[in-house]
Amino acid sequence: MRKTAWLAALYAAFIIFSPAAAAGAESIIRFSGAFTPGALIIGTTAINNRVSLEGEPLKVTPAGQVVFGFGRDAEGSKTIQVQTPAGEVHEVVIELAPRSYAIDRVDGVPQKTVTPDPAQVARARAEAAKVWQARQVFSAREDFLQPVIKPAEGRISGVYGSQRIFNGQPRNPHFGLDIAAPTGTPVKAPWPGIVVLAEPDLFYSGGTLIIDHGYGVTSTYIHLHKLHVAPGDEIAQGDVIAEIGATGRVTGPHLDWRINWQQERLDPALVLEHFSSSELTTP
Ligand SMILES: [Zn+2]
Repeated sequence: MRKTAWLAALYAAFIIFSPAAAAGAESIIRFSGAFTPGALIIGTTAINNRVSLEGEPLKVTPAGQVVFGFGRDAEGSKTIQVQTPAGEVHEVVIELAPRSYAIDRVDGVPQKTVTPDPAQVARARAEAAKVWQARQVFSAREDFLQPVIKPAEGRISGVYGSQRIFNGQPRNPHFGLDIAAPTGTPVKAPWPGIVVLAEPDLFYSGGTLIIDHGYGVTSTYIHLHKLHVAPGDEIAQGDVIAEIGATGRVTGPHLDWRINWQQERLDPALVLEHFSSSELTTP
């Protein structure tokens, strides 16, 4: 099974990168996911253990699981501390494998098209604050523990981490996985969850949905044509939550799908790679 092979690879990583932690690591906490920037990681430890990441406590599920993630520019080593109810402290060091992204330098762009209108900037800033607030949600839902399904089928037209530099000015990196498909194509919930934001028309992102999957894990869907859910709606995996569109600042219809852990943006392609179930298919 792929999952077993991957866990074995992670143990090997401890041995290679962190000999001191290797001895106790396997028994104290097990991880699934990739130790790279953009990764979502699920750890499993004994119930009642306490876990922290770089000194910040992580909430542990009643079954002993923790979830966390690393942003696009995360690098170096990260320390996980596990404390048993008896007060014994184990330290596990994760070494993040470096990752590079596609950078597109475009020079000679007329400055007018690079500098946005001040009124648009003000609107976009207010909307960004609302989106940031929605991602602050932290619930005891455990939806993220279920194998994930792809929200839509289509050509991958954009990847996580890529960035454009216009006339030497870097733009925000691209944080989603773009799936190109005609307007009206259904978008299905990759995990169960609760809708925390549903906005039909934001300046940059157009029709925008954010869903809470528990323990700080949320997912975002942008450029939507139609939203089929409202804030507070509880959704099941595979439910049609929206339709793909070309709303906001885009050139063609596609779903821009994002996964977040608190305010860190993660790579949906890595989540699909490590947390899909081969038994589960999108209906
Ligand atoms: Zn995109």
